[in-house]
Amino acid sequence: MQEPECVMSEIADLMALQHIARSGDTEDTSLWRCRAACSNRDPNMWHPQIGEAAVEHAAKEVCHGCDVKQPCLRYALEHHEEHGVWGEMNQTERKRLAQAQRRSN
Ligand code: SF4
Repeated sequence: MQEPECVMSEIADLMALQHIARSGDTEDTSLWRCRAACSNRDPNMWHPQIGEAAVEHAAKEVCHGCDVKQPCLRYALEHHEEHGVWGEMNQTERKRLAQAQRRSN
């Protein structure tokens, strides 16, 4: 059940969390995504184009202060998200983290 402060309008939820929806995943992420610091931001920030380092940096700054950075990153790792910034990491950084985790197991 969602926490009261997590209640968002359906339209705002759908629009603001497009970067999560883009994954095509149907898993219920409402336990943490309603507290996402990116929920009222332009979702394109989390999907910068090649060469848009400043955009990626701005997205990561938002992620840095996000209360749900850990579940967000875990979600991206578990679902092998290949694109975008999740949990303050871009795809290359997530790939390196996943490799390091595999080596340590
Ligand atoms: S860590 Fe970043 S991408 Fe993940 S929910 Fe928070 S602000 Fe959004």
